[in-house]
Amino acid sequence: MKHISLMGATGSIGTQTLDVLKEHPDEFRLSAFSVGKNLDLARKIIVEFQPELVSVSEKNDMEVLKSEFPGISFTYGQQGLTEVAVYHKADVLVNAVLGSVGLEPTLQAIEEKKTIAIANKETLVTAGHLVMEAAKKNGVALLPVDSEHSAIFQALQGEKEKNIEKLILTASGGSFRDKTREELQNVTVEQALNHPNWSMGAKITIDSASMMNKGLEVIEAHWLFSMPYENIDVLLHKESIIHSMIEFHDSSVIAQLGTPDMRVPIQYALTYPDRLPLPSANRLNLAEIGKLHFTAMDFNRFRCLQLAYDAGKAGGSMPTVLNAANEAAVAAFLEGKISFLQIEEYIERALHAHQHIANPGLAEIKSADAEARKYVSSLI
Ligand code: NDP
Ligand code: NDP
Ligand code: MG
Repeated sequence: MKHISLMGATGSIGTQTLDVLKEHPDEFRLSAFSVGKNLDLARKIIVEFQPELVSVSEKNDMEVLKSEFPGISFTYGQQGLTEVAVYHKADVLVNAVLGSVGLEPTLQAIEEKKTIAIANKETLVTAGHLVMEAAKKNGVALLPVDSEHSAIFQALQGEKEKNIEKLILTASGGSFRDKTREELQNVTVEQALNHPNWSMGAKITIDSASMMNKGLEVIEAHWLFSMPYENIDVLLHKESIIHSMIEFHDSSVIAQLGTPDMRVPIQYALTYPDRLPLPSANRLNLAEIGKLHFTAMDFNRFRCLQLAYDAGKAGGSMPTVLNAANEAAVAAFLEGKISFLQIEEYIERALHAHQHIANPGLAEIKSADAEARKYVSSLI
């Protein structure tokens, strides 16, 4: 029986993680979880999973839940997230929270030698060097949940990182794939969030449309697989059937395929190195699909991807600024305060305005993050 703590239980990845736990009640027990503000869903999760510890964002919300569920421990805020992350009974932390708030709890959980299943890519983008260094020092496994990185991790089994020629991350193109830059000028929040195939959180849906999601994933891949940026490629693949590939030195390419369903990479991170059945997942029927398509990436059309490569290569505090400016700009776009193309404009301006720090510690990461958010607010 594996005990799980789950940060971000009420989100898209969080609820799909709970689906996986439900499929295997004899394998997993949810010991602790965190939510932000969604108390209704938190109540349902408490009733269904009977955890021991629950964290919410606000103190008042904590008091409300406390009075309703006297047998359970509650906590709140940033400190609460960390308490969930390091919960003493948990073997595995699933980090499915959104944004760089996930960084410090993750570092603490690594110090406590928890295995980490990581969906929260912003944590790796904002301070990949600190996270990887801590994981190495503590002998902790960081298991990718993001589907591209799970694909690479799966393709890497039985192989060695040193045999890799390059990583090829696939990208569907997001909700505006077929629009020109002209047409992007006036796109609305509703259009960007219209995602009929499946639903992800609002922030990552916008990141997919701007291609910043793929940019963040390039940086995430750089850290998870110690791969120089020159050896990470992005390829448009609109069907999202090949989730990513590795090309090896001898020119052989290994890809991982499947129907698009995040429960598959979530479950793999939880069962690794084993695999369990996932009866409700759709099987891949390639004969029915017939054709797969691939197109080279256009860096002028998808400016955010170029910004992410540049920030990644510059290193130091630049990815922190890229991520924080993106979080702030996407939030402003979702609130209707800026246009879609202003997202990339503000990120670029924040990167230009920033004084590069070569090897930032946690305090410098936090101040670079805060400074970038403040700078973006000043532009709005
Ligand atoms: P959602 O927006 O759906 O969920 C975010 C979760 O984090 C919710 O539980 C939310 O709580 C909580 N949360 C948000 N802000 C805070 C905060 N400041 N403090 C505490 N908790 C907070 O996001 P997703 O599930 O889509 O994404 C989560 C992470 O996984 C992201 O890093 C994303 O990039 C990554 N990811 C997502 C994929 C997907 O398919 N969705 C695919 C690959 C990676 P509440 O709702 O209760 O307020
Ligand atoms: P998106 O999530 O933006 O798109 C993925 C799929 O959604 C594509 O098949 C695309 O189909 C479809 N789609 C997107 N927008 C629309 C739309 N407006 N109308 C109709 N269909 C739409 O792509 P990303 O590659 O950026 O992936 C984002 C995140 O989702 C990643 O972080 C990844 O981890 C996760 N993901 C997970 C998968 C999995 O479970 N294995 C598979 C794919 C993504 P089409 O191009 O044909 O329109
Ligand atoms: Mg992904």
